[in-house]
Amino acid sequence: MRRVYIDNAATTQVDPEVVKAIIPYMEDKYGNASSIHSFGREAYDGMEKARKQIAELISASPKEILFTSGGTESDNTAIKGVAYKRRDKGRHIITSSVEHPAVLETCQSLESQGFKITYLPVDKEGIVNIESLKKNITEETILITIMHANNEIGTIETIQEIGQLAHDHGIIFHTDAVQTTGKIPIDLSKLDVDLLSISAHKFYGPKGVGALFKREGTSIEPIMNGGGHERGLRSGTENVAGIVGMGKAAELARSRMTDDFSSLTGMRDRLIKRVLSEIEESYLNGHPTKRLPNNAHFRFSGIEGESLLLSLDEKGIAASTGSACSSKKLMPSHVLMAIGLDEVQAHGSLRLTLGRKNTRDDVEYVCDTLVEVVRRLREISPLWKREDIAAAYAGREPLHTHI
Ligand code: PLP
Repeated sequence: MRRVYIDNAATTQVDPEVVKAIIPYMEDKYGNASSIHSFGREAYDGMEKARKQIAELISASPKEILFTSGGTESDNTAIKGVAYKRRDKGRHIITSSVEHPAVLETCQSLESQGFKITYLPVDKEGIVNIESLKKNITEETILITIMHANNEIGTIETIQEIGQLAHDHGIIFHTDAVQTTGKIPIDLSKLDVDLLSISAHKFYGPKGVGALFKREGTSIEPIMNGGGHERGLRSGTENVAGIVGMGKAAELARSRMTDDFSSLTGMRDRLIKRVLSEIEESYLNGHPTKRLPNNAHFRFSGIEGESLLLSLDEKGIAASTGSACSSKKLMPSHVLMAIGLDEVQAHGSLRLTLGRKNTRDDVEYVCDTLVEVVRRLREISPLWKREDIAAAYAGREPLHTHI
């Protein structure tokens, strides 16, 4: 059976060149990067090369890159790190209501430790309201943490505007760039960003490794104590092979960014056009233009997302109804609720996220299958209007209602 993986926001396939770069660090160059002998030095050199490759991808200095175990740890390190460091200055943090759980739950944990958190609303396309941000800044605000792009609906936030506002008030700005790093250009020499979270497995690197950009001069309290690795900010023997792989993935992302971007947006736009024009009462969630090049997020009236997902899986198509991290709980996505959908609409949503390996043929196969599966599910759905199905069977043109 044909298999199409179209869930690249959940994770990506490790690039074969990344695998090739990792293997020597699993086989021969297995030293501990802290050891003084030649094995240690080899590992250290591999790690430092990766630090440079990652810095180059985001126009930062290698000194500003800190290795972690992934996006979740980078978010925790940044947010708790600033909170604990600056708690004497103030105890107020501003975030948005559409953040990944790695940010939201970190903020909730700080709330239970006496910090005050403001969760900003977003508009119906997922954009954070800047006026609301301005109004909520107080003398006590020490940190603003707003994601660069949303992992579910793909909306890209105006982080420069937010960062500038933060800096005008002497506030530290962190952004979760897990979904944007390697996909869209990030130039930290021009952005008012102090801390930025990265995860390798979202851009064809291995899982369980990530990085935190920390601008020189920004102070954080370490949340991991131990042997003092990563300049005392993240103790624990470094995952050298993973780090080397992330470095290679960053180098590839940098050299392929323009080609990847144009191929992904081409496929994404074709997907959106076909779905909206061929499936009646289908809608695009998220922003029409300020969105990730690989993200298409739909909702379908009269459809239950889990059934849709299982039907697609039967046809070899791997997609997602919301963020992978919450797909095991049958809770409506907090992001979809925040953009104003009701529970039924939220449950009738589907996320398709393209990757480097997808082809134009994949897109046609996914569209053909989706049209067929939605039609079949609606036939048996108590949520769907029966008379329209009868009309469609009678050979009438289907209705096209979309935004
Ligand atoms: N932040 C965002 C926006 C994400 O999409 C994810 C992963 O889904 C994370 C953080 C967590 O990253 P990791 O899986 O590397 O811990």
